[in-house]
Order: sequence, then structure tokens, then C-alpha cells
Amino acid sequence: MKISELFKTKKTLSFEIFPPKREDETLALVTDTISKMDALSPDFISVTYGALGNTLSNTVGIAKHIKDNTKAQPLAHLTCVSSTKHDIDMVLDNLQQNGIENILTLRGDIPQNITTPLFSDFTHASDLSQYIHTSRPGCFMTAGACYPEMHPQAESMRQDIENLKKKQDAGMEFFTTQLFFDNQVFYQFLLAARKAGITIPIIPGIMPVTNYNQLDRMIQVTHCAVPLQLRNYFDLYKNDKAALQEIGIIFTSYQILDLMAHDVDGIHLYSMNKSTFITQLMQNIGYVASRFFAPVQK
Ligand code: FAD
Repeated sequence: MKISELFKTKKTLSFEIFPPKREDETLALVTDTISKMDALSPDFISVTYGALGNTLSNTVGIAKHIKDNTKAQPLAHLTCVSSTKHDIDMVLDNLQQNGIENILTLRGDIPQNITTPLFSDFTHASDLSQYIHTSRPGCFMTAGACYPEMHPQAESMRQDIENLKKKQDAGMEFFTTQLFFDNQVFYQFLLAARKAGITIPIIPGIMPVTNYNQLDRMIQVTHCAVPLQLRNYFDLYKNDKAALQEIGIIFTSYQILDLMAHDVDGIHLYSMNKSTFITQLMQNIGYVASRFFAPVQK
């Protein structure tokens, strides 16, 4: 089933997982996480794809496991940063053979330690989405990424949103955001995107941050703003692991309640493969979530 069909009747709940690096340990490690996630009734589970294609078989293998063993739809991430059309065709064949219809089309990050020029038939995620739709019409649903605090390589938010419109024009049917901690940033971005003619669902991507170094790493990678309240809590309990876990889960629970109160299109949780935190979080907001994610006739 194409995930875009779901938006016709409901707000979506989804989780992201990543494949472990070593191929031989893939399924054993994530199977348990996936079945615990399935108990929380997500609409889809997305599986990341390593830059330069180094988790190719893991991503497809895990997506297939989700398809065969859960009620959720798999969403396979696919990057194009160093790929030829032939490389992409091989992945698309593999996805089709395994009955996986949903792809999060991405450019991917260019690794800093690469010295030789990368050969690629694709420059941007929009090229990948367009290629998929023109080479295999009707076979896949494509979605993409967006950045409420601007993609680091964009010259301005305005330019980044213009480029986002190109992704919609290239056939993407929804966007998932980069993680953020300050909902006001997301609401402003949403308004600007809608004004620019972006009409497809924009799903906020939220990460329950549960340890001190993780928060700093996220700031470094995404340049996201951190509300003073969260910063203060984390500084105060810097060396108390249990306190930070409790604070992180409670902060994220409120963050999601606020997003739901603003009638967002869905909620996507960056799980970091930690089903325990996701389970605690969903228990905190259990009743409200059951109402929010319930199917409706539109
Ligand atoms: P693009 O959409 O190509 O955007 C990159 C830059 O180019 C932006 O500055 C944009 O403004 C500009 N741009 C976009 N389209 C055009 C256009 N048509 N013309 C001119 N300029 C344009 N990385 C992985 O390696 N594996 C993953 O599984 C993965 N999953 C992710 C999931 C989500 C939800 C998010 C938010 C990110 C994910 N990433 C992943 C990271 C992502 O690959 C990087 O952020 C990368 O730097 C940009 O990818 P993109 O698809 O957004 O690129």
C-alpha cells in the first residue's frame, strides 16, 4: 500500500530505525525493536540508508521484514549522492521484487573524507524522485526530507523552500522534517511552506533526546535551536543518566501534545532503535494519541 493513501483518512504515526552496520547482525538486532514498535501501531516504519550505498541490502532486508511481520508499511530511504542510474535501477528492482512501494528519496551527505570526485547521475533528491516516476510510472510512492531550520547548504530559508517546492513538483507526496526541539520554529516554517504553494503533508520529525552528549551532537549536526528550559534541565542533571532520560521523555511528550493541538499532519519519531523510550513516550500520551491518530472520514 502506498503511504500517501493513508493521509486521505488519518494523521500518521511513524518511527525511524537504522540498520546496524554489520550485515550479519542486522535482523537479529532490529527484529525485537521492530516487534515492540509494532505493538504501538505505527502506520509506517522508515529504514535509513547509509550514504554511498553501504547499507543497501540491510535497508531492503529490514523493510521486507517490516512488510512481512508487522501491520506497518515500510518506507525505505534511498540516497543518490554517488549513484548512477544503473545503481538506482538495481535498488529499485530489489525493492519491487520485495513488494516495497514507498521510498524516502534523498540526496544524502557527501562524506568529508572522500578525495576523488564522486560520479553521480543525480544532483538533488528531486532528480531521484523524478527519475523513479518517469522510469517506473505508478510503481512507487516517493516522499522527501525538509528542514524547518534550513538545510545547512541553502543560502536562505526562502531559497530552501523554493527548492522544496521543486521536490513536490518532482512527485514527492509528503515531507518529513529534520528533528527540531522548538515547535515555534516548525510552525513558522509550515506557514512559509504553505505560502510558497507546498500542499502535501509535512510531518514533524521528533527525537526524544535522553542523554547529554546526544543533545550536543544533534545541535552540531542539525544546527537546531534548543529551548532554554530543555538546555537548563540538561545542564542541571548533566551527570544523572536516569534524570536525563525522564526529562527527555517528558519534554518530548509535551512537545508532541503541542504539535497535536496544532493539528499537524502526523508525528514521526526518530527512535534511534530505542523501543523503550518510544514506548514510554506513547504511554504518556496514550489517550490523546488514540484520538489523534484515529481514522476519520474527510
Ligand atoms: P536535497 O533535497 O537535494 O537538498 C540539498 C540542498 O540542495 C538544500 O540546500 C536544498 O535547498 C538544495 N536543493 C534541493 N533541491 C534542489 C534543486 N532541485 N535545485 C537546486 N537546489 C536544490 N541521509 C542518509 O545518508 N541516509 C538516510 O537514510 C537519511 N535519512 C534522512 C531522513 C530525513 C527525514 C532527513 C531530514 C534527512 C535524512 N538524511 C539521510 C540526511 C540527508 O541526506 C542530508 O540532510 C542531505 O544533506 C540532504 O539531503 P536532501 O534529500 O534533503 O537533499
